[in-house]
Amino acid sequence: MYYRELKREVYEANMELEKRKLVTYTFGNVSQVDRQHGVIGIKPSGVPYEDLTLEDIVIVDLNNQVVEGRLNPSSDTKTHTYLYRQWDSIGGVTHTHSTYATAWAQAQLAIPCYGTTHADYVYGEIPCTAVMRDDQIARDYEEETGVQILECFANRDPKESPMVIVAGHAPFTWGDSAAKSVYHAVLLEEMAKMAYLTKTLAPNVGPLKQALTDKHYLRKHGKDAYYGQSN
Ligand SMILES: [Zn+2]
Repeated sequence: MYYRELKREVYEANMELEKRKLVTYTFGNVSQVDRQHGVIGIKPSGVPYEDLTLEDIVIVDLNNQVVEGRLNPSSDTKTHTYLYRQWDSIGGVTHTHSTYATAWAQAQLAIPCYGTTHADYVYGEIPCTAVMRDDQIARDYEEETGVQILECFANRDPKESPMVIVAGHAPFTWGDSAAKSVYHAVLLEEMAKMAYLTKTLAPNVGPLKQALTDKHYLRKHGKDAYYGQSN
């Protein structure tokens, strides 16, 4: 079997998504890119997690052609490949319909940074895309979802917010690897829940003050980061 290591990492990341209770039935999918060979490994379409095996992971090139696998790749494959083509810095992508993050998507709202838990991982709000236009939906829905995400990050580094809310739909997250993108999906759901509760308790609350946002984000990220154990 070719691409065994890629398939293993993608399989384990998909199973982690189910273990963390972020998916119901067949919702959700995780992929990872192999830049050297120009391919991704991704979950097959419509296969329940309890039936998923390592051999089921589909290998697809960055133009959406199946390279290896007997099953059809996830119906969201074109969104994944679009993001990999546009952003050289990312290695893994996760899509879920996790409850709280999806509620923000259905409300068509960005998630404000209300506290330091959020500021530890995301610099500023978690953006929400525009609602897709009818001509985009008719043209190539899954690829256009990628286009919507890129437009949302026109003036923003995807590393500052490794996650996005797709209006009317659900979140996408990314990272250096499939595992890291799942980690960000777990964090996003927790942050979305906290933000929802915060907004419910105090509807008029504003975002966390800038100095605290800077302190928490920059002590973990960027060139002068000092959080954790140095090597
Ligand atoms: Zn979806």
